[in-house]
Amino acid sequence: MTECHIAIIGAGIGGLTAALSLQRQGFAVSVYEQAAELREFGAGLVVTPDALHALDALGVGGAIIDASSASVGLVFKHYKSGEVLRRQPSGDYYKSKYGARHVLVHRADLHAALSAAVLANDPGCVHLDHAFAGLSQDENGVNARFANGATIKADALIGCDGYRSAVRDRVYSSTPVTFTGQVSFRALVRSESLPEEIKKQAECLYVGPGRMLLHYPLRNRALMNIVAHARQDRWEAEGWAIPGERSEFLKMFCDFYPKVLQLIEVIEPNALFKWGLRDREPLPQWTLDRVSMLGDAAHPMSPFLGQGAVMAIEDGMVLGRCFAKAGTAEQALRLYETARKPRANAAQLYSREQGANLQHIDPGRGAEAIGLFNYNPTTVPISPNGRTAPPPQC
Ligand SMILES: Cc1cc2nc3c(=O)[nH]c(=O)nc-3n(C[C@H](O)[C@H](O)[C@H](O)COP(=O)(O)OP(=O)(O)OC[C@H]3O[C@@H](n4cnc5c(N)ncnc54)[C@H](O)[C@@H]3O)c2cc1C
Repeated sequence: MTECHIAIIGAGIGGLTAALSLQRQGFAVSVYEQAAELREFGAGLVVTPDALHALDALGVGGAIIDASSASVGLVFKHYKSGEVLRRQPSGDYYKSKYGARHVLVHRADLHAALSAAVLANDPGCVHLDHAFAGLSQDENGVNARFANGATIKADALIGCDGYRSAVRDRVYSSTPVTFTGQVSFRALVRSESLPEEIKKQAECLYVGPGRMLLHYPLRNRALMNIVAHARQDRWEAEGWAIPGERSEFLKMFCDFYPKVLQLIEVIEPNALFKWGLRDREPLPQWTLDRVSMLGDAAHPMSPFLGQGAVMAIEDGMVLGRCFAKAGTAEQALRLYETARKPRANAAQLYSREQGANLQHIDPGRGAEAIGLFNYNPTTVPISPNGRTAPPPQC
């Protein structure tokens, strides 16, 4: 099986993790990315212990921990009074309970660590400027076409091309998508511009009616990551790089705790982005013969559980193990879908539920309380006969 050639569409967090996991199992991998350069946008990610097990096993955990901020414990607060509603434990607790940390990391640092490791294994394996445009498959393999006119043949193809996946659309036709009636904002602020109170208690989630605002530090507390969601009837486009207006952000959160407003005020004008949150139903099937999907392409989830990238990392790790175990590409993809779909689809639904909780001043149960961290993608059994790990209790 190691002579099998696997094509990966999309060099995001999921695609690069899958490439690295497959390379470490001895497979030849080619990654096709639409962008002209390998990079990520400026925002933070919470990487929980379940994903860190995989990153450690793939040899990039240390680099990610070095570049991250250790979590000292997220504090849930009332949007107006600042009263503490609930506290999450610190990163040390997760390390002792689950054997891996819980870290706050800049997306670009995670992406850089993954791409450096993939390119160190095979400097020629990432093909930039290759926007996937279509595919056909038969018993001999998969043929894919790209917008630049290139064509390739592979034994299997994995769509890792994000929430607006063209691979998903080609294989399953377009999946219905609905606007959730929520607009999101994100920004990074340098820590020297921050109000003292925000600096002191740097990990907070303010929960208000129809709105919430999360901030946490990145890069050893040099930056503050801000993400906020608010109900709004008006349509906003889907995308992570649409410029936002600070005045619009302030207006939507005008009755929030005063320190939160000060935090919004120090966002530099070109550092604020917004997007409309859309929702998709879990897919009943991810795989069609030699083609499958992972990450947001397979299970695009709302951001309320902070598990989208975590699930993509887990998928990538398990995919490599399935190819190592299987006798054929089709069998590997069936093993992979059996191993991953119940858990990732359940997380997709729970994320939606958590979004509803948070908008009613209810801190909800969070990813740990539903058992998501009790999972290690490097050791979870892989079996052709059905579920390999219990899905979270959603
Ligand atoms: C502000 C924000 C905060 C978040 N916070 C968290 C968090 O704390 N924890 C967490 O776990 N998750 C978080 N997420 C979710 C997480 O970022 C995503 O779930 C994750 O990036 C999914 O990885 P992916 O590889 O599937 O997709 P992506 O990272 O989106 O990568 C897809 C890649 O495919 C490429 N591509 C797209 N179309 C094509 C094509 N046609 N041909 C070739 N290439 C293509 C894209 O250019 C991109 O490089 C957050 C998301 C946002 C926006």
